Amino acid sequence: MNAPFEGLDATGLRDAICAGQRGVRETTAACLDAIEASQDTLGAFLTIERESALARAEELERSDAEPGPLHGVPVAIKANLCWEGHETNCASRLLEGWRAPYSATSVERLLAAGAVPVGVTNMDEFAMGSSGENSAFGPARNPWDTTRIPGGSSSGSAVAVAARLVPLALGSDTGGSVRQPAALCGVYGYKPTYGRVSRYGLVAFGSSLDQVSPFVTSARDLALCMSVIGGHDPRDSTSLELDAPSAALRGEVALTGLKVGVPKEHFPPELDKGTRAACEAALARLEERGCELVEVSLPHASYAIPTYYVVATAEASSNLARFDGVAYGQRVDGDGSLNSMFAATRAAGFGDEVKRRILIGTYALSAGYQDEWYGRATRARTLLRRDYEAAFERCDVIAAPTSPTVAFPLGERTEDPVSMYLADILTVSASLAGLPAVSAPAGFAAPADDPTKSLPVGLQLTGPHACDERVIEVAGLLESTSDDHLKTPSGGAA
Ligand code: GLN
Repeated sequence: MNAPFEGLDATGLRDAICAGQRGVRETTAACLDAIEASQDTLGAFLTIERESALARAEELERSDAEPGPLHGVPVAIKANLCWEGHETNCASRLLEGWRAPYSATSVERLLAAGAVPVGVTNMDEFAMGSSGENSAFGPARNPWDTTRIPGGSSSGSAVAVAARLVPLALGSDTGGSVRQPAALCGVYGYKPTYGRVSRYGLVAFGSSLDQVSPFVTSARDLALCMSVIGGHDPRDSTSLELDAPSAALRGEVALTGLKVGVPKEHFPPELDKGTRAACEAALARLEERGCELVEVSLPHASYAIPTYYVVATAEASSNLARFDGVAYGQRVDGDGSLNSMFAATRAAGFGDEVKRRILIGTYALSAGYQDEWYGRATRARTLLRRDYEAAFERCDVIAAPTSPTVAFPLGERTEDPVSMYLADILTVSASLAGLPAVSAPAGFAAPADDPTKSLPVGLQLTGPHACDERVIEVAGLLESTSDDHLKTPSGGAA
């Protein structure tokens, strides 16, 4: 597979374009060709927007305005982020053909920075899933081994960046949907502090958890991307009144004597052996660079999965009520009554996992059960948040594996929802606590089912509330200790 931009990250590509070493049109066209050539094997994209991308590239080349921080950089957009005039179908039959009438703030900010969106990426339907297999349009595949899942729900965005089809893609992370596929595909995935990136124009799943989150191939690109998409937005009532994080890494100097907390609950005995070894080796490299490793505890970690799957499904059952055949997407007429039209539309339009979530969430909120389920989950969420607050009294960041295993084979868990939910066991806690967390490339390991293979492992670095810069700096420090982030599925350094 040919990388269309010779392994440059977004920063490097923008610099090469601004230095006149390559044209925007030429870069965009090479990128579109590579995406088209990859589709049969990887299935990362739901739509490839050749026409609008080339028109925009031409417009950027002709313009004599000052080039933006992402001038000419091709980017991909997850199918649950509104992008004006383009199909935003959330990988659902129900929204097939629905074109967004406006752009999400994050998409608008990418455009204002000079980026060139080239297509809309595959995902688990309505962002519900951990493998990409819940897409109504077929799964995306892991570029390191196309018989395996890339992770989810932002499957296509992770694949697009891992296969070096684009240097930057947007996803959304509710309980791990950017960090987990980033880990399984060997790239960076960053979930900002809740409220740091506007949710305006993101199709809501669990509104108290959802964050627009980027995939990139270097720590400096995390800083660059967050400086573009971050910052207050009056159109999102949960947006924090904080400026966007800074655009550049300050480097190692800022990190002398950093305390890295290692929570024992996130290194459980059943953790996959290769994943443990890769993460421990990454921690040892941080220690060599002067970090101090301290053991910390998140005593309520075992509550995280049940709490998340009550909170997220309750919010989803309410958010997805709007998809009833009236205002958006497909409609199926029932027997002529309004209620039967609602029922027929939803029965035909939603896939099994979405229906399962709506049922669980509706039950958790129903009269007589609300306090027992939603109420208890809310109280458990407070305990999880307090665990982090106590841990951060002893350390500056927390490090743990992002995923308990490397990528598993397609089809392995589709019949067993609970084993699928357990893929998120290490990511949902930071989501429930609203904290910033990155998955950074941390080496490779053999999957338990095939000792001959070598697949990417991610280390998750979580920071205190609003300390996004710190998390990104530590990712930069880890990056400087190895060349793991430069390895690509097609072999060798990018
Ligand atoms: N895999 C988790 C779920 O299925 C997380 C999804 C997400 O972050 N959007 O809910």
